[in-house]
Amino acid sequence: MSWLDCHNHTAEWSDGRQSIEQVMERARAEGVRVGLSDHAGMGDYLNSEARLLAYADYLSQYPVARGVEMDLGRSFPIPPGLRSKFDYVIGSVHGMEVDGVRQSFSALLDWTRGKKPGWDPRVQFGGMDAFLKRHLELLDREFSSQKYDILGHCTMLPPLALGEPEKAFPEWWEDGLLALLLKHGVALEISNRWRTPTRRLMAKALKAGSRFSTGSDGHEPAKTCCLDYPKELIQEFNIPTDRIFDVTRPLVAA
Ligand SMILES: [Zn+2]
Ligand SMILES: [Zn+2]
Repeated sequence: MSWLDCHNHTAEWSDGRQSIEQVMERARAEGVRVGLSDHAGMGDYLNSEARLLAYADYLSQYPVARGVEMDLGRSFPIPPGLRSKFDYVIGSVHGMEVDGVRQSFSALLDWTRGKKPGWDPRVQFGGMDAFLKRHLELLDREFSSQKYDILGHCTMLPPLALGEPEKAFPEWWEDGLLALLLKHGVALEISNRWRTPTRRLMAKALKAGSRFSTGSDGHEPAKTCCLDYPKELIQEFNIPTDRIFDVTRPLVAA
């Protein structure tokens, strides 16, 4: 069985800069199976059951795994009939409310690239410990509300901007995160785009009994279906195949 890239975006349905045909072309070039997972949530185009149904029907016309990436914190419930049209649901955090105001992590990413010299995310988010505690509370709330299969890019969070992730993320947060994944049966995504998890978290996750998934988080052809980092970690840590998320359905069009 070849690698499965669970995490990709298109221009038709979210913020990708590529068509589904281009994604499939990249999958062929890289020799991997591919899943689509456009953004859904109250702040996205896919913000209703009707649009999610249209998306599921669209995906069913292609030989791809059918996923969706729900924006945790701005999610909406997917009824069972609609849920069954998808192979999996990824949940990812892309921003959080601080004092009633939503702070998008895209500002954070600009800051890491030196584009926001006057801004300090540690102030914005009210201290990193308080922020990370709220992050775990959000995950527990969301994972309790409906079934998620995969947690997307778990360290794509403000502390990542502070430098070395193994120093920026405290161990209590890592332990709390892994406990939540096990409690709710959610796999930890190994993301090529975000190079997450770190090796320390990966070692702990393996020991704790976590499951993993692999994703490029491709938004444009150049990086779509590149799984170098996930392959490297899975080989290095000797992760057994049964611990890696996969879809059992053959990837054919409806
Ligand atoms: Zn995401
Ligand atoms: Zn994504």
